Amino acid sequence: MLCRFQRTLRQPVETQGVGLFTGTDARLRFLPAPTDHGIAFQRIDVAGSAPIPARIEFVAPSQRRTAIACNGVQVEMIEHVMAALAGLQIDNCLIEIDGPEVPGFDGSCREICDLLIASGIVEQDRMREAISLLMPVQVSADDGDVDLVARPMNNNGLAITYQLDYGDRSPISPQNLTVEITPESFVRDIAFARTFVLDSEVAALQAAGYGRRVTHQDLLVFDANGRVIDNELRAPDEPVRHKILDCLGDFALIGTDLRGYVNAYRSGHRQNQDLVRRILLTHQSETRSEAI
Ligand SMILES: [Zn+2]
Repeated sequence: MLCRFQRTLRQPVETQGVGLFTGTDARLRFLPAPTDHGIAFQRIDVAGSAPIPARIEFVAPSQRRTAIACNGVQVEMIEHVMAALAGLQIDNCLIEIDGPEVPGFDGSCREICDLLIASGIVEQDRMREAISLLMPVQVSADDGDVDLVARPMNNNGLAITYQLDYGDRSPISPQNLTVEITPESFVRDIAFARTFVLDSEVAALQAAGYGRRVTHQDLLVFDANGRVIDNELRAPDEPVRHKILDCLGDFALIGTDLRGYVNAYRSGHRQNQDLVRRILLTHQSETRSEAI
């Protein structure tokens, strides 16, 4: 990821769908935005609510997803849209939404990517800021179950390794993948990967009020033998690809490009967000035209 100009959409595009968690219908409208605007979500169904910047300062505590909130107004499940925008290097965009949760579509961000590409992506007249990692930044759980390390990398890009390992008894076997993120590799290797859940977890999620309108076609549901119920994998290692998608969406909460190498062992949204906070505490962004 070389030093580059900021980018936005050529024209507005919209779509609609159902939220995976809350089951609410919502319409999404992606609008071009000026330089240095960043990504923001605006709840147009809540009178007088302002755009909420999709930055780490606005993240609200949530289980299994990433939400942002401001003045009591919340937008849930932003991470897949954030991944699509970051993967395609769309830096400035206002997303209007008329409900509390971003639709899940098929559990991946392929439909959003197709929509954004169809809109057209245009360069703007300012350089994109970036944070280049100068020293290792680490987030770990005390028990060693989660480890997330971001390190300097010498080619100005962003590479992510994800190590998915739920243990010997999990129906999902260990998977390990490294992807150097570019718009091309993102579309080819990551955007299609769907979110997943174990069949054994579904009852508890539904008892908690989640996923009532979700079918086996809206995400991947793994049975106790590791088979996908009423669906087919798009890649043998689709789960680890989705975890990289989630990482990218969460790292985009930095609000600038990130240059470095991130090795993620079993991390989830909470640890991804903690890493973003630590990077922002220890690093400053820059726009370096000479970095080309
Ligand atoms: Zn996800």
